[in-house]
Amino acid sequence: MSDEKYLKVQKVLSEKVEENIKNLLESKHLYQSIQLDLKQMSFDFNEKLFKKLLTATDIINDILSKNWYPNDPANKSTDPFAFQSMQYELHFNMSDIKCFCHQCERIEAMNLKSCENILNRGYYLNHIHKLNNKIIQVFAATYLCQSCKSIPEVFIIRREGTKITLSGRSPIEHIYVPKVIPKEVKKYYEGALLAYQSGQTLAGNFLLRTLIEQFAYLKTKEAKSADNAIDLYMDTLDEDFKNRFPSFRELYSNLSSDIHSAKGSPALFEEVMSELVDHFEARKVFKYN
Ligand SMILES: [Zn+2]
Repeated sequence: MSDEKYLKVQKVLSEKVEENIKNLLESKHLYQSIQLDLKQMSFDFNEKLFKKLLTATDIINDILSKNWYPNDPANKSTDPFAFQSMQYELHFNMSDIKCFCHQCERIEAMNLKSCENILNRGYYLNHIHKLNNKIIQVFAATYLCQSCKSIPEVFIIRREGTKITLSGRSPIEHIYVPKVIPKEVKKYYEGALLAYQSGQTLAGNFLLRTLIEQFAYLKTKEAKSADNAIDLYMDTLDEDFKNRFPSFRELYSNLSSDIHSAKGSPALFEEVMSELVDHFEARKVFKYN
């Protein structure tokens, strides 16, 4: 085996893992995944020089059939560079990231404090967990905000073969709620968006419907049912408002159909989210409380 060639492929692959994990932590929501694209890699060597040795594809397949080892700033004893026998395995750095800090309440730069493959606690470092012929690893990483340096945020990343998934986060992902959403129903909006971003659109649509009926109940007295509350609420609005802005009755009815057929339409979710904001903005323009 050519060490030089092997190590070059390994380096490109490590950078790929590093870049994709950074992208996962900075831009993906809970339970979203990234599939490593191994076709877009180029190597700085001449294949002809190594024609009798392994091809780049052989090396990639060899590296991917083993565990990946994150550099852990909190525990140098797990550094794979320390083990001669592990030099042919993939080790990678976890980049610093820009992420929402729950203490600062804004996006901040965060530095890695620790990272380990938690599935291998209680096993040898190179023990392999396999499911359906894919290597399974679960990395737990802590990141510290460089502005407040208070409580590290924790991320869980699951590796299944060449797919990485953001499978946990503490504190939970920050949800941006437009200021125009009334505080009494803000929790339904947050819950709906979180469900949607985690791939549970049916639950998201249910929470949007809850938001509409709870808001209608707030603005009406003696409603006998949710439908009745929505009718009474719509009666409180000017004709001009009703002609120009999205109707709660229609949004509620569309959401109900979606829920009763267990459809969970993402298109409907996005449409209702946007129309709800229009509706509440219009309330401000018309000076409704
Ligand atoms: Zn902070």
